[in-house]
Amino acid sequence: MKYIFVTLFPNLIKPYFEDSILKRAIDKNLINIEFYNPRDYSLNKHKKVDNYLCGGGAGLLMTPQPLNDCLEDIRKKYENSHFIFPLPAGKSFKQSDSKRLSKKKSIIFVCGRYEGIDERIIEEFADELFSIGDYILTGGELSSLIIADSISRNIDGVLGNSQSIINESFENILLEAPSFTKPNIFKNSEVISEFLKGNHSKISSLKNRLSIMKTKYYRIDLFNKFKMRENYEK
Ligand code: SAM
Repeated sequence: MKYIFVTLFPNLIKPYFEDSILKRAIDKNLINIEFYNPRDYSLNKHKKVDNYLCGGGAGLLMTPQPLNDCLEDIRKKYENSHFIFPLPAGKSFKQSDSKRLSKKKSIIFVCGRYEGIDERIIEEFADELFSIGDYILTGGELSSLIIADSISRNIDGVLGNSQSIINESFENILLEAPSFTKPNIFKNSEVISEFLKGNHSKISSLKNRLSIMKTKYYRIDLFNKFKMRENYEK
């Protein structure tokens, strides 16, 4: 998988790939990253990439020319390039998107800054728009990283143990069951005793029930979806 980040601030993104799981994925050649800076494409003599909003309004917008030339260059270099624009207007990013996108060869993240991107660029290049939530960030670098991080976990070989994702939250609509580690008693609170008895089929059926209860408690929206799918009565 190649991730290409189109950003005015590559240094906001680079350090995230310099440690832990994503660093190991790069070392193993499972993912690689590249950066394009729209400023390098600006034809303005001061390399300007922003301007006032047409029709007035507070703030500045990313101008179309540098982004257009940058994205055209990328489109020429990479066949089947998939352009993702992280934007508040996008559909909400889900685990199912993460899994689907993990099968792509390359993904280009176009990071907005200031008050965002001229709409004509979005119309011309975007294959998908994603929002990471109903709040506003200062730029698309964090949202791109969130999406790239999540996609990476679904790429074969990235996680040390591929079993890790099987029972995770959202895999089957539901949240993951409560988890515990050693010590068995901590601050007078005990690990669920069944988890310590080694009967794997009992543990698995208990975890299944706990996962349903936890989802009902924390995420009634997901629980209702699950109920509809399973004709679940309780
Ligand atoms: N003026 C824009 C609006 O009201 O929709 C917000 C622009 S925001 C300050 C600048 C950039 O941050 C956006 O272009 C986008 O790349 C990123 N961004 C902000 N909030 C986001 C969100 N909820 N999801 C994904 N990206 C977001």
